[in-house]
Amino acid sequence: MHKMAKVIVDVPSRETDRPFDYLIPESMSGWIEVGSRVGVPFGRRTVQGFVVSLHDQLEMDSSRMKPIDELLDLLPPLPSDLVQLAAWMSRKYACSMISALQAMIPSALKGKAERYIHVADEHQREEERTSEGVLFNSQALLGEAEREIVAYINHSGSVTMAHLSARYPDRIEVIKNLLGQGILFESQAIKDRVRKKTVKTVAAAVSGEAAKEALASFGGKARRQREVLEFLLEVGAPLSMKEVLSTLRVTAGTVKSLADKGYATIEDVEVFRDPYQDRHFKATKPLERTPEQEDVYRYLTETLDDHRHGVFLLHGVTGSGKTEVYLQTIERCISLGRQAIVLVPEISLTPQMVERFKGRFGSKVAVMHSRLSTGERYDEWRKIREGRVQVAIGARSAVFAPFADLGLIVMDEEHETSYKQEETPKYHARDVAVERARQHGAAVILGSATPSLESYHAARSQSNDHFAPMILEMNQRPSGSRLPGVHIIDMREELREGNRSMFSRALHQGIAQRIERGEQTVLFLNRRGYSTFVMCRTCGYVAGCPECDISLTYHQKSDNLRCHYCGYATPAPSVCPECQSEHIRYFGTGTQRVEGELSKLFPGIRVIRMDVDTTSEKGAHERLLQAFRDKKGDVLLGTQMVAKGLDFPDVTLVGVIAADTALNFPDFRSAEKTFQLLTQVAGRAGRHQLPGEVYIQTYMPEHYSIIHSSRHDYHSFVREELQHRRTLHYPPYSRLILVTLSHEQLPVLLRMAENFASELRGRAQRLGWYGDLDRLTPEALDILGPVASPLPRIKNRYRFQCMVKYRGDLDAVTLVRETSAATMDQLRDASLQISIDVDPQMLM
Ligand code: ADP
Ligand code: ZN
Ligand code: ZN
Repeated sequence: MHKMAKVIVDVPSRETDRPFDYLIPESMSGWIEVGSRVGVPFGRRTVQGFVVSLHDQLEMDSSRMKPIDELLDLLPPLPSDLVQLAAWMSRKYACSMISALQAMIPSALKGKAERYIHVADEHQREEERTSEGVLFNSQALLGEAEREIVAYINHSGSVTMAHLSARYPDRIEVIKNLLGQGILFESQAIKDRVRKKTVKTVAAAVSGEAAKEALASFGGKARRQREVLEFLLEVGAPLSMKEVLSTLRVTAGTVKSLADKGYATIEDVEVFRDPYQDRHFKATKPLERTPEQEDVYRYLTETLDDHRHGVFLLHGVTGSGKTEVYLQTIERCISLGRQAIVLVPEISLTPQMVERFKGRFGSKVAVMHSRLSTGERYDEWRKIREGRVQVAIGARSAVFAPFADLGLIVMDEEHETSYKQEETPKYHARDVAVERARQHGAAVILGSATPSLESYHAARSQSNDHFAPMILEMNQRPSGSRLPGVHIIDMREELREGNRSMFSRALHQGIAQRIERGEQTVLFLNRRGYSTFVMCRTCGYVAGCPECDISLTYHQKSDNLRCHYCGYATPAPSVCPECQSEHIRYFGTGTQRVEGELSKLFPGIRVIRMDVDTTSEKGAHERLLQAFRDKKGDVLLGTQMVAKGLDFPDVTLVGVIAADTALNFPDFRSAEKTFQLLTQVAGRAGRHQLPGEVYIQTYMPEHYSIIHSSRHDYHSFVREELQHRRTLHYPPYSRLILVTLSHEQLPVLLRMAENFASELRGRAQRLGWYGDLDRLTPEALDILGPVASPLPRIKNRYRFQCMVKYRGDLDAVTLVRETSAATMDQLRDASLQISIDVDPQMLM
């Protein structure tokens, strides 16, 4: 019998990042498990928490230990392996346990305590008698206002504080008084954000002889009731109330009378919100594997069949049939009675991808999509937790899909940066996937046409501390179509020839040709190169956020300017606040400007624009793609959204408007990202019978990332890029930890950041780790900074950063975590925040 539970409470602070002990009340003892969600008293509040371990013995004086208040779910939302995974995450990413646990459950279950008001027992009795006309005791002493409130609460059983103060806004004092006198009292309970959805169903409660008797008993007046019963008997299964009412055109009263007589039952039955219920997915069958696919499939299924843990890097050119391999491997996994997770970048969680999985596995698939409502997401998650589906597809957080017997995790486009979460817990889904698969003895497939240098290097060197995947290659397209021909266009040359348009002559001609032939074009614009700021043409004033050192973004719909970091908003100015000039204007998004230029150059051209503005509404993404597929557009124009996963047979031309906008970013991965993006975009052209062409417009035509991507030459690119990385000691030849310190006052921050950095250096020195990475030692650690962060001020807080760069088997995360804790303890400044980003992806 478990007597005590250790609970991680939902109180985010450094001091509370440890388990707290609670007694298990006898009534709950059979129900509480590791992973259970509970409401527990904490200080003077009730908070949500997760049970992380159970104990038969009491470790300390139990009189000081408080019992658990409530158990919030019958089935624990977290299986115990996820609780273990959270502990691993907390070590690996220096994050708190609670932040790791919260990342694993749907937001619907992030309950908050509600305060409920009840009437004290003795006063309840009195009120009952009052309603019978007997008035006495303290009740008689209450004024009219008090009595009304007590009667109201008594009638409702209990009400929330929020509800009560909304109903009696001018009687807060009266309510406080009643609380003070002990006539009312307060309790707290955790309230979830969404409820399970139910529908009323009706079923016959009689059968056989009894049914005959019942039918015979209805006189003429009860003719409608008789009809309902006949119908229920005929169907022989529960029906939704709605269906009964609409089919028979009867009222709910009729059905209720039938139920009152005991001939039918009405029940609330739990249902799952299904975001895809109105969509039809065409069923597909496995294709006969090509020889390349066969090789890959054999490796994968051998591992699956043996119940072994294994990581595979599936490097296959765009259109080489990777997705088909995923589908067939998942099918094998399901047939072995195990489950599979498919991770895709949020951006490519397009209808096309969902369609392929739904088409093959139908209702066995749950889709976890950020565009779903909180309720829909909760229900998809419950299908997984309750074992009603075998496959989960979703963006990075789907790596936590609570399957009981996970056999396979597929990560498509494994190089995508969106697999790294930029908020706490700052985890990378690839590393989490490998760890989860290790727990379950499961296989991992990392698929990409352009694997990340980290994964590729890990596979090649077989020495990475975390995982060493096996490389599987696919170089051909099953359709027999060839990779498209890629032309690099030097935009400096265009300018010299007098062409000032954003379209080169070649691309212009290419688009014209496609319109003529009735073929389609995809135009890609790197979003990062353009912004949507407001600038004065006369004096150069740029509207900036007063709290953060960044420019404000113009929002067309609301005609205001907003800060993307703190949410500050202000109406768009019509004259410059600095010089009163009227030439202050909004520099449209890149895509809007390209759209404008296209209509000027090609009158009557049909452009489908896909960017943040046009896809913000639910379902807009799907509609736009369907319109393009139905050939209602000549050109699909967009940002990253058009680069991934799309497969349209009539697209024969892809144009990249400005390939190098990302190359100038101060990020050591900018060449890699450019190479990946160009390769992806180029892969959209000529995927079927018609051959494809790609035009890459650039001001840096000699850059190796552009040259190698134009030749579809991943290996040459990697060779050259790895050389740069090795020289500069960047990943994969080192690992990074980015520490950002922030404070409201700049001079204070400066001092604290110096303090932190020297403490860190001192500790590293004492461990014998600190030194120059240029020395040829297998282990080394260097600390850069402190320097102002690339975004030096956000939400009125100044930011400084230190970068820890190290190689070898050093536990640098613990070093940084302990130094950060020591600094906080020593400085005791409530305004100071230290954030740790292990293996950072965004250096901006
Ligand atoms: P990738 O995921 O590598 O981009 P896909 O799986 O989308 O590639 O395959 C590209 C195209 O080739 C798709 O239209 C797909 O239906 C087709 N395809 C894949 N495998 C086969 C096969 N074994 N036989 C015939 N066609 C195939
Ligand atoms: Zn001005
Ligand atoms: Zn701001």
